[in-house]
Amino acid sequence: MLVGTVIRPGARPDLAEFERLALEDALAARGVDRFRARQIFRWIYRRGVADTEAMTDLPRDLRTRLGEDFSLTTPAIAHRDQSIDGTQKFLLRLADGRTIESVFIPDTPAMTFCISTQVGCAMACAFCLTGKMGLARNLTAGEIVGQVRVLVDATAMRDVRFNLVLMGMGEPLHNYDETMKALRILNDEHGFAMSPQRITLSTVGLLPALEKLAREPLMPKLAISLHAPTDETRGALVPINKKYGVADIIEACKRFPLKHRNRITFEYVMLAGVNDRPEDARRLAKLLAGVKSKVNLIPLNAAAGIPFERPSDEVVSRFAEILAERHLTVSVRKSRGRDIRAACGQLIVEGQKKSTAQQLADLAFT
Ligand code: SAH
Repeated sequence: MLVGTVIRPGARPDLAEFERLALEDALAARGVDRFRARQIFRWIYRRGVADTEAMTDLPRDLRTRLGEDFSLTTPAIAHRDQSIDGTQKFLLRLADGRTIESVFIPDTPAMTFCISTQVGCAMACAFCLTGKMGLARNLTAGEIVGQVRVLVDATAMRDVRFNLVLMGMGEPLHNYDETMKALRILNDEHGFAMSPQRITLSTVGLLPALEKLAREPLMPKLAISLHAPTDETRGALVPINKKYGVADIIEACKRFPLKHRNRITFEYVMLAGVNDRPEDARRLAKLLAGVKSKVNLIPLNAAAGIPFERPSDEVVSRFAEILAERHLTVSVRKSRGRDIRAACGQLIVEGQKKSTAQQLADLAFT
């Protein structure tokens, strides 16, 4: 079995699922020179090729063999929406027919892709639409990176520097191994060569995984979805808080090794009458004293089915002021792409109703 690669019986290994060294091993096992892996990586990630036949600096017989021995899976754009603010939402169809959403957010001032790590999510946060779907399955590393491959071309960003936020569908630390493998593929010097410093991983704070992350050689920036300063309120919003409580998460954050001048972002979705009182702000400031932090207030993106309301701008400003007075760095997230339901927490695959034939076809594969 090839290291680091999922091989389904009868299926050809997928080039999109390989880290470069594993690809070198797989090629060497077939008597192919190791350096071909570098060329293949450049074609897939730098030049955006999705077909081995198009890798024209490879000898013809090697191209043919690659095509016979390997597949190269690329998500397909099933639907695309553009917001008046330039944000674009992509519905991507995966090889098994499942769909996920990825978002391009330009000029913030950085160019940012917001990508998914799971189909659906198991965390069931009370204000999040994706949470309502439950978890269908984890994405593979190839599918996580595949979103970047597709969006870079679709938005003509191949020669432009961009950032990534793992804030789409899913909980990245609940799909730890594939997420980390995706970061390694994105980092490869013959591929996107992305510094992990341009990638932000957002998590509800699954403690064992967070502690593992603290020891990773490739460390992304960290954002914690906190949303409340007490276990009582947070427990009602983020169910996993009953297992990994506020104090434990903050302790883990204090121990988290940060690069020089980096800080942990604490995301705080503001819900009217639930966690937006001056008292909540004061508690939050106290909780974060001594943590290298910044707070990102996210006024709720309301939607049908979410049993909360967005606080007024005045309430949000007052909350931010209280934090700032206590020497915290605060930003209020402007929601982008609300008109196309691409704003934070609004990613949910709509039109789930399938034809009977499709439902039967799905059953046949489970
Ligand atoms: N599971 C990870 C990453 C995906 S969610 C996490 O929880 O961090 C990305 C961010 O969007 C989280 O901070 C989440 O709390 C926030 N979010 C979810 N639903 C939202 C909504 N309806 N309005 C505003 N932000 C929301």
